[in-house]
Amino acid sequence: MTTEIFETFEELGLNEDILKAVLEMGFTKPSPIQAQGIPAVMQGSDVIGQAQTGTGKTAAFGIPVLERIDTSNNAVQALILCPTRELAVQVSEELGRLAKYMRGVRIEAIYGGDSIDRQIRSLKKGVHIVVGTPGRVMDHMERKTLKFNEVRMMVLDEADEMLDMGFREDIESILADMPEDRQTILFSATMSKPIMSITKRFLNDPVLIKVVRNELTNQNIEQVYFEVKPQAKVEVMTRLIDMHHIKSLLVFCNTKRKVDEIVEDLQLRGYASEGIHGDLRQQQRSNVMSKFKAGVTTILVATDVAARGIDVSGLDGVINYDIPMDEEYYVHRIGRTGRAGMSGKAFSLVARDEKYRLKSIEGYTKVKIEKGVIPSFEDIVGVRKARFVETISTSIKESSDQELYNDVLEMLHHSGFTTEQIVGAMAKQIMGVQKNEYADSNLAWEERRNDRREGGNERFGRGERREGGSRFEKGGDRRDGGSRFGGDRSTDRYAPRGERGADRGERRQSAPEAGMTRLFLSLGRKDHIMPKDIVGAIAGEANIPGKTIGAIDIYDKFTFVDVPERDARAVLRAMDGNTIKGKPVQIDIAK
Ligand code: ADP
Ligand code: MG
Repeated sequence: MTTEIFETFEELGLNEDILKAVLEMGFTKPSPIQAQGIPAVMQGSDVIGQAQTGTGKTAAFGIPVLERIDTSNNAVQALILCPTRELAVQVSEELGRLAKYMRGVRIEAIYGGDSIDRQIRSLKKGVHIVVGTPGRVMDHMERKTLKFNEVRMMVLDEADEMLDMGFREDIESILADMPEDRQTILFSATMSKPIMSITKRFLNDPVLIKVVRNELTNQNIEQVYFEVKPQAKVEVMTRLIDMHHIKSLLVFCNTKRKVDEIVEDLQLRGYASEGIHGDLRQQQRSNVMSKFKAGVTTILVATDVAARGIDVSGLDGVINYDIPMDEEYYVHRIGRTGRAGMSGKAFSLVARDEKYRLKSIEGYTKVKIEKGVIPSFEDIVGVRKARFVETISTSIKESSDQELYNDVLEMLHHSGFTTEQIVGAMAKQIMGVQKNEYADSNLAWEERRNDRREGGNERFGRGERREGGSRFEKGGDRRDGGSRFGGDRSTDRYAPRGERGADRGERRQSAPEAGMTRLFLSLGRKDHIMPKDIVGAIAGEANIPGKTIGAIDIYDKFTFVDVPERDARAVLRAMDGNTIKGKPVQIDIAK
C-alpha cells in the first residue's frame, strides 16, 4: 500500500459531495486512523484498523463505504455491524451527515428493542447501507427480510466489544453468509486472540493499520494515582470530586456488582450518580444516558464493556475505581476525558494488590503516572468553604427576595447565640461535609503499619473487614440525587464515627437518642442489605413513617436500628420472623 502521508481530506481524493460534508462537519484534517485507513479501504483491500475510542474510526470506514455505493442499484451493498443500539444509531447518523450532499443514498439502522415490523417496512423500500447489531441482523436474515447477496463491503465496527458482548457466533455466521468477493473491514480499539482468529478466517490478506501507542495517551490528560485501602475508595473518590470540582465523571470498575455498590454508596452520600452495565435493559440504559448527558446525573459508574457501548467523551474526569486487568482498557478509559484540546483528569485508586498492574500499565503506555496525595478532610472543608462563600455572596447580590430572610439572624440572637456560632452552624449544614469513619489516617494503605502500632483504630487492618458500615442518621429523603454541595439537605447522614472511638461492632458504646429504642436485626452486610431495605421493610410492615426511623448501623452479620420508643413493640411484632429482601430476620431489643 501507499506510504504517502495525507494531511488533508482534499489530498485523499474524495468525491466532492463528501468533501463538502466533511468540511461542514468541522473536520479540518484527517485523524491518523483516517489518513491511513481511508486510502487502504478505497483501494479495495481488506483492512484491520486499530485505534483508540474517539479517534474517528467511523469516518475512516464510513467515507470509503459511501464512495462505493451505487445508488442506481436498490440492493444492500454495505453491512456494518456494531455492538449496541446506541453505537448503531450513532454510526448511521454520522454516515447520514457524511452523505448529506449525496443524492439518494439510503442508510438504515437496525437493532433489537425496536419494532421489527417497522424495520421490515423500511427495508422493503430499499436500503443501500445497513448498520445493525448482530442479533437483529441475524433475525432479519432468518426471516429473509434482509438479503445480502449484493453486499460488497462488510464492516465490523468495535469488534472487540462485539466479542466481549458475546456476539462471536452471530458474527461468524453472518460473515459466512456474505458473498465471497466482498471486502471486509474490521475496526477495533484492542486486538485479542478471538479477533485475530476471526480475521484469519474471514479476512483476505488484510492490511493492518495500527495507530501507534504513544499517540494514544499523549493527550492533555493529567494521570495521577492514589494508594488507597479498598474500603476507603469511595471516600477518596468523593474527596477528589470535591477537591477538583468535577462536574462530569466516568467511574470505571471491573465488575457489575461493584457498579451497583459504588452507585449506592455515592447516592447515599448525596452525589448524583447512576450505573451502567450489561444487565440494564435498553430503555434503562437510554434513560441513564440522557440524564447524564443533560447533566442531571454527574457521575456515571460503568464496567469497561458497558462503557464502550455508550457515546460519552470530553468529560472532566475519569476515575479508575479499580485498576483494569488489561492495559489497553486503561488507555480506553482515560481516553474519555481530555478530548479535543480540553484538559482532563484521570485518577486511579490503587489498592496494595493492584500496584503491580499499575506498573505494567506504565510500562505499556510509556507514560509515568504520578503519585497523588489524598486530600485531607481539612482540604475538603477548605474548598467547600470557598465555594460556600461564593454561593452566599451571589445570593445576597442577586436574589430578589433576600429581605424575607434577613430577620433570621435576629431571631437566633434572641436565642442567645453569637453571630459567629450562627453562621458557623449554617455553613456546616449547607456545605454538607461530615466527618465520617474515614479519618484521614484511614485512607491510604501505606499507613497500615502505623495504625497497628497505635492500636484501637485499625478499622481496615489485616484480615479485618471494615465493621462500621454505612452510618445513617435519620433525615429527609434518603436518596435524593442532588449535589452534595449547595443542596438543601437539612440533616446529617453520616454521623461522626470517629468520635465513638474503637467501635468494633460487638459492643456499641453510644446509647440511642432520647425517646428511641435500639433494635437488633440478625441481617448484615453479608446479606447485602442496605439502609433503604431496612427502612422500607420496617416502615412498610409496621406501618410507621420511614422518616421516624433513626440511626442505622449495618455490620457484617447484624444491624442496629433505632426506632421511636412508642413504635418499638409494633416493629417487633411486625418484623420478628418476617423477611427483608427475602431473607428471614430475627429482631429483638438490643442489649
Ligand atoms: P471512534 O469510532 O474511533 O471511537 P468516532 O468515529 O465515533 O470515533 O469519532 C469521534 C468523534 O470525532 C465524532 O464526534 C466525530 O464526528 C469526530 N471526528 C471524526 N473524525 C474527525 C476529524 N478528522 N476531525 C474532527 N473531528 C472528527
Ligand atoms: Mg466507533
